[in-house]
Amino acid sequence: MNAMVSRLVHDLEAGEIRDGDRRYLIMRPDVLMGTLKGLDDMTRGRVLSSLANSAALHGGRSVQAYGQTAPGRALLEIMCDASAGLGWGRWYIEESAEELKLTVHNSPFAWGYGACTHTVCAPIVGIFRAVATQFFGTPAVVEELECAAMTSQLACHFVASRKGGTLPGNPQ
Ligand SMILES: [Zn+2]
Repeated sequence: MNAMVSRLVHDLEAGEIRDGDRRYLIMRPDVLMGTLKGLDDMTRGRVLSSLANSAALHGGRSVQAYGQTAPGRALLEIMCDASAGLGWGRWYIEESAEELKLTVHNSPFAWGYGACTHTVCAPIVGIFRAVATQFFGTPAVVEELECAAMTSQLACHFVASRKGGTLPGNPQ
């Protein structure tokens, strides 16, 4: 069974779902993403950016907890497993010395938003920023290059690189 799914506890008395002391929420993606639909372009962009920052901060605590017991490639495997288990789409991560490339099939955020002309998967951007920061051991930046909401494809593509773009031991 998926490791994340097997860890989730449905506490019906308390009315909550937890992985250890981390609480999760099951929510329809169209409810979450629909809140962005009625906003003007500038406001929507700011909300998406804030959503990414919140995911990096709060979701980043889960990433740090995983990273302490499973560094490097093991962390990437855990994140792919956890994302599938939490309904965040099917993740595939390629690593190189300079960057991480993430392909997400079936993003719930693209699905929840529907066809549009901009990227919408800000929560994945934020979590992936936390993953890359943990993986590289230095602050990272993430960009969603292509979103399934913008194309007829099923996949979204993200790239993470070190902030400033320099390699350790190679200051500029
Ligand atoms: Zn997307």
